[in-house]
Amino acid sequence: MRTVNGRTDRVVVVGAGLGGLACALHLAGSGRQVTVLEREPVPGGRAGRLSVDGYEFDTGPTVLTMPDLIAEALGAVGEELDDWLDLTPLDPAYRAYYPDGSTLDVITDTTRMAVEIAKVCGPREADGYLRFVDYARDLWRLERADFIERNLDAPTDLLTGNLLKLLANGAFRRLQTKINQFFRDPRTQRIFSFQAMYAGLAPHDALAIYAVIAYLDSVAGVYFPRGGVHAVSRAMAGAAEKHGVQIRYGTTVTRVETAGDRATGVRTAEGEFVPADVVVLNPDLPVAYRDLLPPARPRRLTYSPSCVVLHVGSTRGYGKIAHHNIHFGRSWRGTFDEVIRRGDLMSDPSLLVTNPSRTDPSVAPAGRHTYYVLAPVPNLDRGPYDWRGGLADRYAGRLVETLEERGYVGFADGIEVLRTITPAEWAEQGMAAGTPFASAHSLFQTGPFRPSNLHRGLGNVVFVGSGTQPGVGVPMVLISGKLAAARVTEGRR
Ligand SMILES: Cc1cc2nc3c(=O)[nH]c(=O)nc-3n(C[C@H](O)[C@H](O)[C@H](O)COP(=O)(O)OP(=O)(O)OC[C@H]3O[C@@H](n4cnc5c(N)ncnc54)[C@H](O)[C@@H]3O)c2cc1C
Repeated sequence: MRTVNGRTDRVVVVGAGLGGLACALHLAGSGRQVTVLEREPVPGGRAGRLSVDGYEFDTGPTVLTMPDLIAEALGAVGEELDDWLDLTPLDPAYRAYYPDGSTLDVITDTTRMAVEIAKVCGPREADGYLRFVDYARDLWRLERADFIERNLDAPTDLLTGNLLKLLANGAFRRLQTKINQFFRDPRTQRIFSFQAMYAGLAPHDALAIYAVIAYLDSVAGVYFPRGGVHAVSRAMAGAAEKHGVQIRYGTTVTRVETAGDRATGVRTAEGEFVPADVVVLNPDLPVAYRDLLPPARPRRLTYSPSCVVLHVGSTRGYGKIAHHNIHFGRSWRGTFDEVIRRGDLMSDPSLLVTNPSRTDPSVAPAGRHTYYVLAPVPNLDRGPYDWRGGLADRYAGRLVETLEERGYVGFADGIEVLRTITPAEWAEQGMAAGTPFASAHSLFQTGPFRPSNLHRGLGNVVFVGSGTQPGVGVPMVLISGKLAAARVTEGRR
C-alpha cells in the first residue's frame, strides 16, 4: 500500500464532514496531533442542520445504516457509541407505496419481512426474498474486506480469490438482471434495486455488486439518532475534541501551500498559515483539486444525479405513513432515463418522504411535524437548469401537488415553514456538478479506478470523503476516513 512520505506528526484536516471527522478520530487514536479547519460554524458538512422557527431539519442524510462504523470511529479514541448517541432502529425501515395503491413495509427482520412479502406479493416472492438475502449477505462478505475497506492502488490489487467468487456468482452482471432472478413482482424488483440511484446509476446500468446497498438498509437495518442524523456529526466532533483534536469552526481554507513535491501547510481566508506535516482534504475532491491545490489537468468524471430537497415544517400529521416513505411513480426505467441520461426533470416523480418528528417529536414545536421530501433531479452537467430563476419555487409547488395526489391530504395548507434546496445550492456549497452524491459508481469510477485518496504529485496530501475511495454515503465516507488515516499511520513515522 502506498503511504504518505516524511514526518506525519502534525496533521491538518480541512473540513469536518463525516469523512474528515472519521479520519481525525483515527489519526488522534494513533497519537497524531490533529487540527481540523471547518468553514461552517457546525460540524457535519452535508450531514448538517437547518433550524427554522423551532423546527430542526437534517440537511443531508436521513437513512442511517451501519452504525458499527460510527462505533469504530469513536472506538479509535476509546469512546463508546452508547455514551454519545441514542439510536432507534426503524421498524419498518421504509414503507413503499406503489401506483396500484398497494404498500409494502420493508422490515429488517427477515422472518417478518418474508411474511410481509408473502402477504402482499405471494409466497413464491417470499422464497425469492429469502434467497436474495443469502445472496446479498454473501456479496457483502466477499466485497467488504478485499474491495471496500482496503486502500486499492492499482487494478491488480483486485486480483484476489474473492474476485473469482464474485465473478462466479454473477456480481458483474447488471443489477436489474440479477434482482429479477430472485423477484418476479415489479414491486419487490423496485424496492430491492432502486438503491442503485444512491450509487448514481440506474439498476439496468449498475453492476450487481451494488446489491449490497439494498442489503445494508433492508436487511442490516436503518437507524434514527435522537435529535436527527446531525447528532452523529456532533458526537464525532465532541469525541474528537475530548481526545485532543482542535476543531476551528468558521475557518475557510483558500489554498494548500507547497514546497517542491510536499505540502507545507494551508492558508486560510484570513491569510493565516497553518503548518502541517500532512494535509487531509475533505472538500469535494474535484473542487479541492480545482480551488485548493496547484493547477493540474483535471480528470473528467461522470457525476451522479442530484436532488431537490424540501424541508417542511407543518401543522399536519399523517397517521398512515412511516418514518421513511418511498412513493414510486408508474414509470420505472423511464424515470432513470429522464434524470440520468436525458437530463430531464421526472415527469412521473418517485419520491422519498421522511417524517423525523414521528420518531423524535423534539425536532418540531409541540403538535407540529417535520417532513423532508427528496426528489432526484439531473446534476448540472447533465441538466443545466437555471434553478435560481423561479424554477425552484415552481418545482417545489409541483412536488407538493404530487404529494397531495399521493395521499397527503391538505399538505399545502399545513405548511408553516418551507425551504427548497436545489442543485444551485449544492454547487454553491462547493459540490462538483451541483450534486451532493459525487462521481457516479460506474465501473471505471469505482475501487482503484475512483480518484485516489493520495495526491498524484504531493506526497503528503490525502483526500477523504465521497469523492474518493470507497465512495458515497455515510458508511462509505466513514470507511474513507479510516482508509485516509491508514495512508498516514501505516507509513514510516
Ligand atoms: C440531500 C442528501 C441526502 C443524502 N442522503 C443520504 C442517506 O440517506 N444516507 C447516506 O448514507 N448518505 C446520504 N447522503 C450522502 C452523505 O451525506 C454524504 O456522502 C456524506 O455526508 C459526505 O461526507 P463527506 O465527508 O464526504 O463530505 P462533506 O459532508 O461535504 O464534508 C466536507 C466538509 O468540508 C468543509 N469544507 C469545504 N470546503 C472547505 C474549505 N475550503 N475550508 C474549510 N472547510 C471546508 C465543508 O463545510 C464540510 O463540512 C445524502 C446527502 C445529501 C446532501
